[in-house]
Amino acid sequence: MTPHPSADRLAAVKQDIAAAAEEAGRAVADIVLVAVSKTQDEAAIRPVIAAGQRVFGENRVQEAVGKWPALKAENPDIELHLIGPLQSNKAREAVALFDWIETVDREKIARVLSEECQRQDRKPGFLVQVNTGGEAQKAGVQPREAAAFIKMCREKYHLDIRGVMCIPPVDEEAALHFALLKKIADESGLKVVSMGMSADFDKAIAYGATHVRVGTAIFGPRQKPRVMA
Ligand SMILES: *Cc1c(COP(=O)(O)O)cnc(C)c1O
Repeated sequence: MTPHPSADRLAAVKQDIAAAAEEAGRAVADIVLVAVSKTQDEAAIRPVIAAGQRVFGENRVQEAVGKWPALKAENPDIELHLIGPLQSNKAREAVALFDWIETVDREKIARVLSEECQRQDRKPGFLVQVNTGGEAQKAGVQPREAAAFIKMCREKYHLDIRGVMCIPPVDEEAALHFALLKKIADESGLKVVSMGMSADFDKAIAYGATHVRVGTAIFGPRQKPRVMA
């Protein structure tokens, strides 16, 4: 059997991560590759699972609910990350399916997630999304509000906040945003820093990323988005 192209690309990404870690004087074991499988169907995801990848990211709850329960049942050690915006009416499904929710960014969603965790007796890991570029159209708390928001999520809502994530503006030097996010994590004593995508994960590792979210470099070009209800 010839290896699937995605398996080859996965191996190449892992090599690049190892090289970037070495360059930065960091242990490769401290960097988690989140394979972003949004828009990819089960047939595209299975070869990547077969190649040994166990951590995946999706950006839409509805889409993930359609494909991951079966894949997770086949592979119980899979860890699924929600990396896209979360509406409160999807919090129930999100808490039931995802092991990590990277996009906590407002009090209402913190409250609803807290209620769902109690109701379902689930304990996903949470990251606070920071809008490092202060972009009007982008989700995330403002950098200067991050520390207070993290504190509130922990103390008022008892969420297991493990770190922070960001999506830098496309037209700016990502390094500035990576450095800012790392600083915000350090100031709140948080270990997990989710940043870096296909184009810049090596740079993110240099700036302290513990989780890189890589889609197209593994799966190739994205499939046409499914029509969402
Ligand atoms: C799609 C997506 C990624 C992966 O992007 P690629 O450029 O395909 O690697 C990473 N993070 C988030 C939040 C995304 O939505």
